[in-house]
Amino acid sequence: MIKHNRVLLILIGCILLLSFTFPIVESYDFVIEDVKLFDGNKVVEHATIYIKDGLIASIDSVKTSLNCKYNYRINGHNKTLIPGLINAHVHIQSREDLTKSANAGILTVMELLRLQEDSIPVYKILSDSANFPYFYTSGIGADMPDAVIKRFIQKLNPYAPTTIKDVDTFISDRVNKKVDFIKILQDSRLPQKFSDSLFDKLISETHKNNLLAIVHSETLRDARYEFNHGADIIAHGWIDSLITDDELSKWKERPFYVIPTLLVHLSVKKQLNPKSYTLTAEQISGEIGRLHKAGITLLAGLDSPNDNLNFTTDFYKELALYVRAGLSPLEALKTATVNPAKAYKLKDKGEIKVGTSADLVLVNGDLLSDINKLNNVASVWKKGIKIR
Ligand SMILES: [Zn+2]
Repeated sequence: MIKHNRVLLILIGCILLLSFTFPIVESYDFVIEDVKLFDGNKVVEHATIYIKDGLIASIDSVKTSLNCKYNYRINGHNKTLIPGLINAHVHIQSREDLTKSANAGILTVMELLRLQEDSIPVYKILSDSANFPYFYTSGIGADMPDAVIKRFIQKLNPYAPTTIKDVDTFISDRVNKKVDFIKILQDSRLPQKFSDSLFDKLISETHKNNLLAIVHSETLRDARYEFNHGADIIAHGWIDSLITDDELSKWKERPFYVIPTLLVHLSVKKQLNPKSYTLTAEQISGEIGRLHKAGITLLAGLDSPNDNLNFTTDFYKELALYVRAGLSPLEALKTATVNPAKAYKLKDKGEIKVGTSADLVLVNGDLLSDINKLNNVASVWKKGIKIR
């Protein structure tokens, strides 16, 4: 027994000696050294990120000297590294919208209405390649004949589910088209809206299929209705009245998310000032600050190309508006990373952590002290492939 132990000790000794004499040098595709890292949750002042085979292989959170092989190395000094951004509300019109978005560091897009569902399989294939963002869509949204969709297509909406039986067919059609969630449109300012029973059936059928119900509304009256009737996410903030503190605390009681779309609301207010926009611009932003302060999770979304908003720099403006509404730059970045990843149940997105896809955006300057530095994107990688 003693003899066996001695042999074992000598063997371990030899292995240790060998590994000191010939240290194993790890090799990586590339390394980003000494960078300010926002990993989706917290900030690390001097981090080094190691990327291998398209994945985050390792993260050093203290300054260390590099002792590894790599194809290339980026000096991250005076730069900020953040996860690929997520735009929680878009309407993609072309492949160009997708490539522009990815180039701007927006590596995931959530499309909240697509009438041409034939293109979904193509966009889903593009979603896997480096130059395109991950693409998620609702496909056709549920809306009454003379309501929101009619305003876009200038005729009665032919896809409207108007009976309980229609709702069953509508949801199963969307499931067959492999949509990622269900969009429901509701606007009580328009001639038609869903009855309580149709709306409730839409929500329950959506949930029965393990999908999220994302509802369009622009007034607090509709948002309140949608919260009370089980919606998961609302696609816009509101422009008509101020929410009460009691309601704010009620909205915190279950997972419920708000996409403010502040830029589109504020530009419509400034340019057209429609009658229904009874709040001032300050109040419209103020409501977003109040939602955040009350602990309601916000998801950054633009609604481009509505109101001619683009798929790139206008998203940075949206985040800057959240900072003006009272969020810190870190909290604003969360609305475009971890928050939408959590709300939309996107696995391994919105965070920089070991083992996940290397979807990274490198920005010149300190983004955590100035959100406008987003306009200085230096490099973008998707799955470890440099696309900018
Ligand atoms: Zn929209």
